[in-house]
Amino acid sequence: MRRKFVAGNWKMNGSSSQNNKLVSEILAEIGGISRAEIALCPPFVYLMEVGRQIAQSGIALGAQNCAVESPGAFTGEIAATMLIDLGCRYVIIGHSERRALYGESDVLVAAKFATARTAGLIPILCVGERLEEREAGITGEIVARQIDAILDSQGITVFANSVIAYEPVWAIGTGRTATPSQAQEVHAIIRTRLAEHNTEIATQTRILYGGSVKGNNAAELFAMPDIDGGLIGGASLNAQEFMAICAAADRN
Ligand code: PEP
Repeated sequence: MRRKFVAGNWKMNGSSSQNNKLVSEILAEIGGISRAEIALCPPFVYLMEVGRQIAQSGIALGAQNCAVESPGAFTGEIAATMLIDLGCRYVIIGHSERRALYGESDVLVAAKFATARTAGLIPILCVGERLEEREAGITGEIVARQIDAILDSQGITVFANSVIAYEPVWAIGTGRTATPSQAQEVHAIIRTRLAEHNTEIATQTRILYGGSVKGNNAAELFAMPDIDGGLIGGASLNAQEFMAICAAADRN
């Protein structure tokens, strides 16, 4: 039985005072969540502060990216081992914004995945197709290619206890959500791809959906058999919305 998981990706948002308020509001409600796992992924500079605030709450801390390199002369980069040092459990790898805006290729994403694993972080690997790829009917191929970049270089065992987030690019921040059956179809493709290599790992891997998830559409998405929770962008900046999504995960 896979434990439902909701991770909030704050992206490059927030300030000390805004975060303080947001986290306080989340903490006020977190007692109502008994089964689902929750994580917050603030920007690097707020990891320590947020980490202190959520210590003892059961909420996990995650980062939004990490360097591919080990510590050394890489100005401006943040090593995976440093994230461990700050108490992170998770790191988002290969978010579509990083792929599109910062040129992260499948090869680089795969290398970051390996670096994160070696450091002891649990990667949340983001995959997903662009609108033109969906319209061309190649969603399955795109997602398979993104997963294969890791399978081919590191093998299936690296996916044990990792998390995959299916995030159709056309649904991120657009208010346009994949329907539960559209999302389920791709989640099943991803799980089948893993199962071709190892059925046990495929069965255990949590596959999150991301793309305009809100309090009012989370429950129907999370009710799908291969949707194990959500990676939440915009709605994770609003405690009421975020907790409604967490509650939907908790009930499913
Ligand atoms: C995301 O960026 O991971 C995301 C899912 O964003 P949003 O929920 O705002 O679509």
